[in-house]
Amino acid sequence: MGSSAAVAARRGRILRDPATARTLVLAAGLLIAAGALTPSALHSAPPLPGTVHLTWWSLGILFAVAELSVFHVEVARQAHTFSLSEFPFVLGLLFAAPLALLTGRLLGQAATLVLRDRQPPLKLAFNLSLFAAETTAVLAVNRILTGSASGVLPRTCGAAVVSVILGGALSAALVWLVMRWHAASLAPRRVVFLSTVTAASNASLAVMASVLAVHAVWALAPLGLVAAVVVAAYVGYNRLTRRYAGLQTLYEFTRLTGTASGARTGLGTAIDQARRALRAEDAWIEPIGPDPVLAPADRPAFPEPLRHQVVEEGRTVVVPRVAREEASRAVLTLYRVSDLMAAPLVDSTGTVIGIFLVADRLTDVSSFDHEDGRLFNTLAAQAGIAVENAGLVERLHQQIAAREHEAGHDVLTGLPNRSYFARQLQQVLAASDEHCSVLLMDLDQFKEINDTLGHHVGDHVLRAIADRLRGAVGDRGIVARLGGDEFAVLLPGATGPEPALEVARDIRTAVTEPVRVSSLMLGVGASIGVALRPEHGDDQIALMQHADVAMYVAKGSQDRVRVYDPEDDWSSELRLQLAAEMPGAIRAGRFEVHYQPIARLGGLEVPTVEALARWEHPQLGSLPPQEFIPIAERTGAILALTRFVLDRSLAQCRTWRDRGLPIRVAVNLSVHVMLNRGWPDEVVNLLHRHRLPGEALTLEITETALMSDPGRIVPAMRRLADAGVTFGIDDFGTGYSSLSYLRRMPISEIKIDKSFVRSMTSDDALRSIVRSVVDLGKSLHMHTVAEGVEDQHTLDCLATIGCDFVQGNYVCEPRNADDLTVWLRDGGTARTEIAVCPLT
Ligand code: C2E
Ligand code: CA
Ligand code: CA
Repeated sequence: MGSSAAVAARRGRILRDPATARTLVLAAGLLIAAGALTPSALHSAPPLPGTVHLTWWSLGILFAVAELSVFHVEVARQAHTFSLSEFPFVLGLLFAAPLALLTGRLLGQAATLVLRDRQPPLKLAFNLSLFAAETTAVLAVNRILTGSASGVLPRTCGAAVVSVILGGALSAALVWLVMRWHAASLAPRRVVFLSTVTAASNASLAVMASVLAVHAVWALAPLGLVAAVVVAAYVGYNRLTRRYAGLQTLYEFTRLTGTASGARTGLGTAIDQARRALRAEDAWIEPIGPDPVLAPADRPAFPEPLRHQVVEEGRTVVVPRVAREEASRAVLTLYRVSDLMAAPLVDSTGTVIGIFLVADRLTDVSSFDHEDGRLFNTLAAQAGIAVENAGLVERLHQQIAAREHEAGHDVLTGLPNRSYFARQLQQVLAASDEHCSVLLMDLDQFKEINDTLGHHVGDHVLRAIADRLRGAVGDRGIVARLGGDEFAVLLPGATGPEPALEVARDIRTAVTEPVRVSSLMLGVGASIGVALRPEHGDDQIALMQHADVAMYVAKGSQDRVRVYDPEDDWSSELRLQLAAEMPGAIRAGRFEVHYQPIARLGGLEVPTVEALARWEHPQLGSLPPQEFIPIAERTGAILALTRFVLDRSLAQCRTWRDRGLPIRVAVNLSVHVMLNRGWPDEVVNLLHRHRLPGEALTLEITETALMSDPGRIVPAMRRLADAGVTFGIDDFGTGYSSLSYLRRMPISEIKIDKSFVRSMTSDDALRSIVRSVVDLGKSLHMHTVAEGVEDQHTLDCLATIGCDFVQGNYVCEPRNADDLTVWLRDGGTARTEIAVCPLT
């Protein structure tokens, strides 16, 4: 029948594609077949006197009504539609002249296809020829089966049922064929079976009604009641199924938009999911206002007055296929779609940031309704949050990139910075045979000046040195400040050591002149290392490294200037030596753990201290972690070292707690350690041994390490998080993490890297980066910690931004356990305005 499930559900798709010749030929063939069958089909037995007689127009009405009272059923996540058209069919066969049935069928169906489905002419033509062929075939079969019998008899009734079912099968087969030609996805076999069963039961019901109408009209009432109850139950079941499917969709949607990596992908997923969930052909987002994530839609803007309803009133607008109002029809025409829904995309502050649209229900027989509207509304709300989060991350990365690309200059001295210098060097190196020299310089007594006279004086000195450096080099080369008290000079085209040595001597003469700071005259020395291309290397890394080695040697030399000599390169030897000594040093306990407080901003306590390893080397003195952690990581000694640090700091934590100081400790973890199989259990055992709850420990993992192998790290983190251990992302902003991963990891803290914090008071770009990280933390429900806080101004700035914790030398530099205990008992240093409450 026209009601065969797959047929009705998919009919809309068939001729949306450019109509192929084959389909047209088939339609013509069907018409010819219908014509050929007509004589025998229309030949009927003489009408029975004294029975009900149905006219063509009453059948037309019955067919239209049957077609309108369709059922939608979800099978395999697709809508399928069953109608009651078998009913008038059977009645027509039993009580009407064949011509009346044919006319009624075609008119009734045509009315619904035109008025309700608004089918275009071509599609209408195909469907009507299909109906014509089907009806004449049914009539012909019925004619053969009934023979000369007439009236409501077992034979005529049986014939009616059989021919109606055969007719349904015929049209299903034809539509299946056309769908195959158009490569549309085929209905599952279950649907074909279901539609046959429905057709048979509908036809049987019609037969029962007919028998009763002739022999016991009164019995139609109870039959009608039974039918009504069945229909009601059916409608209820269907609503329930839809709601369940809606929930499932929502769950799926949340899951997918939450896990897709990368901002834009997440959004793409949201649009895709909404389209699929609502069975729409098309979905898109129209941004409102500038947004870093939402690309402008390449469609006309969603028009008034519906726009007002979505954007100002925050309503979801549903424009079904049968919409009558002028505004709704105008929208459908504008986008050339059959139906459409529009929902507001709202961020967490309630601002409408876009309009989410879906259009063109995939099936012809159903259109968007209010149930769909509700589901869409919820999806849009979810998508709004996804867009917002994506926006935060996007902005963050944009700002970081902007800073790197635009700010090629050092704020303090106005000299080019490290990245600018690297680009210049790269350019020179790109010219394959150009000679050049690289000079690295660092100031000899700068650290002392800074420590004893303060940053203010230090800054003044750096500015003065920078000016002299610029003057001394002139247009012979490019001067840059690499950071701290380290400067570099690039001399393009310089051949051999002579030009470089000449510049180096000029620099030294200029720099070593005492610098006047108010009434003080400060003498600053400088050591310079030189590396040459091509003699000492052909790439950036080699040149910079070799200049660095030369500078190191220069510090111990008479004239403080040194050209690189491979003999000098004992640093690699030193590294080998340290690597060899390390395991023994760990066993012998020659490592120490220092602690640095992480203080709550605006609060009163120091809840956590970070454990930082130190190597007390018998010949080299106290070595900083930058010197030995990379070696430990490469040799694998890092596991033993971390074990040592963890054990030490947990023991210390126990001691503090026993003395009434409720301190937690934070320990740094390298990725190698986290990936070690037994590590989580080892941590849990250590906590147990020191009688500490998991909450006493935070493990810090750098952003880069976290992203290196999330698939393996996350399960290990989960295991520890279950034991109460918390996690912090270290050096945040220096790597590239995906928001969707961060959300999936049990992370409770973001530590903003000191490179952002240190100059944030003088650099707007840095300040806005710090602010976006703090915002990001808030939206992910994570604490934020600013590292490397060196002055009160930065502290104030962080407080304004809303950062939760601070760590830095201004609050307290790393100290050994005893010194830190004293500091804690004294309630923190007096110079900071953080009130650290004395803990007894
Ligand atoms: P980190 O985890 O970022 O630790 C903070 C570093 O910043 C410490 O350097 C600390 O002394 C320094 N710092 C604190 N406040 C300030 C400030 O106001 N200004 C400046 N300029 N620096 C400040 P440290 O102790 O030299 O540690 C360096 C890095 O070595 C650490 O960076 C951490 O990544 C690593 N590390 C230290 N101990 C361990 C350990 O036991 N295991 C592992 N895997 N890594 C460790
Ligand atoms: Ca750390
Ligand atoms: Ca850090």
